[in-house]
Amino acid sequence: MALVAKPSSGDQGGDAPHLVFIPSAGMGHLLPFSRFIAALASQGNVDISVVTALPMVSQAEAEHFAALFAAFPAIRRIDFNLLPLDDATLAGTDPFVLRWESLRRSAHLLGPLIAGATPRASAVVTDVSLASQVIPIAKKELQLPCHILFSSCATMLSFLAYFPTHLDGANADHLAGDVDIPGIGRIPVDYPPNVLRNPDSLFTKQFIANGREIAEADGILLNTFDALEPEALAALRDGKVVPGFPPVFAVGPLKSTSTEKGAVHGAWLDEQPARSVVYVAFGNRNAAALDQIREIGAGLEASGCRFLWVVKTTVVDREDTAELNNVLDDGFLGRVHGRGLVIKEWVDQEAVLRHPAVGLYVSHCGWNSVTESAACGVPMLAWPMTLGDQRLVATVIRSAGFGLWLEHWSWDRESSLVRAAEIAEKVKAVMGDEAISARAKEVGREATKAVAPGGSSHRSMQEFLATLK
Ligand code: UDP
Ligand code: UDP
Repeated sequence: MALVAKPSSGDQGGDAPHLVFIPSAGMGHLLPFSRFIAALASQGNVDISVVTALPMVSQAEAEHFAALFAAFPAIRRIDFNLLPLDDATLAGTDPFVLRWESLRRSAHLLGPLIAGATPRASAVVTDVSLASQVIPIAKKELQLPCHILFSSCATMLSFLAYFPTHLDGANADHLAGDVDIPGIGRIPVDYPPNVLRNPDSLFTKQFIANGREIAEADGILLNTFDALEPEALAALRDGKVVPGFPPVFAVGPLKSTSTEKGAVHGAWLDEQPARSVVYVAFGNRNAAALDQIREIGAGLEASGCRFLWVVKTTVVDREDTAELNNVLDDGFLGRVHGRGLVIKEWVDQEAVLRHPAVGLYVSHCGWNSVTESAACGVPMLAWPMTLGDQRLVATVIRSAGFGLWLEHWSWDRESSLVRAAEIAEKVKAVMGDEAISARAKEVGREATKAVAPGGSSHRSMQEFLATLK
């Protein structure tokens, strides 16, 4: 992707559309925004503003935004100072969900901020976690079209959009059983975010409110592509999930930008044979329990495979001060020296996945990570958490056929630790599975085709741009 932002034609007095982006928090939500913004900025004929909520939750986010604005000087930054969130009932809430709530409760300040933008805004693009607050402001107060850039898969979007209808029919206010989504099929109760079983959780309330409002959006941008999720995309577009659903633009896989810095360990990877390394990483905000971390270590050791393993022990990176030596078994690093790298730093994950030495990704199934693995043609061993969208995401890996998901592998502490022996066995099995490997390569080729001129995602992007005229 060309990374030099062309001067915006707004600055030249032209009539380019002016898109105002309102992202949310958490790298999994910010990355699709910056990737989409970078793709647009390098096209040249769009004015772009980004509403930047201050202060940021994590170090990774702060650095990421700084790099984006430095690389694209034509992008305008609209600072958004959040109101303090002084609410004792929210003590103990996930810091990122809490940030969404701050944004939601400060959302009434967005109207004047966007109304004051020059040149006049032509459309708003926001995150799903803010949908129920931002869509009415954009549409009713500002009379602007409002699009959602969705941070997960089309399957998850179907669930979000249909869930309120399901609840109305079942006279319930939370997830209590399987959900039969028209056009998609039955979703077992333990696939959607399990926090939805708690009617009092903040996430549940936000999720239902956003699900009710999302059909009012003017369009939904998705970081997926037709060949990866053909059924879910068709069901949404045909109005089977929710009649009259807005246009769905599948524009993925979105490419990372050169502003995304991080460790690659390229020199070490260069020394490893093709497709020999297992990459192990569980996302930007998933802390594993110490005993599970040790089982993973022992499993990788016993597998005999080479590996690059990113260890994370806290939810927010600023708080992660643990030393690797205290986290891993005594002597582990010495025993795997040369064939295993264990790191505790931000990596440039897409660059790692693109390296020819990488043959498998053991993943928590964050959607961005899955699209990166798909784009790079790397097979996956899916180990989703139950908290968010990750089990629904794992269904996409399974149905697309480029990985293995062992449903009984959970992250729920001691009662169900996944043991080293099983980890070793399954890692070896997928590394040696030629059918999965061939399918992963094929998915990678389909991803490349989708974003090339004439491909389905390329066309979707053109169709989205045409709506702005
Ligand atoms: N990521 C990265 N380096 C890291 C950790 C994460 O580049 O050390 C990126 C990863 O490539 C992905 C995103 O951060 O694009 C994480 O989003 P995802 O949806 O996969 O999962 P989440 O972390 O939100 O659960
Ligand atoms: N999500 C949603 N509606 C909301 C809030 C979140 O559909 O009101 C989706 C969002 O796309 C995300 C998923 O729910 O992919 C899980 O949220 P979270 O960010 O906690 O998980 P993560 O993506 O970081 O794993």
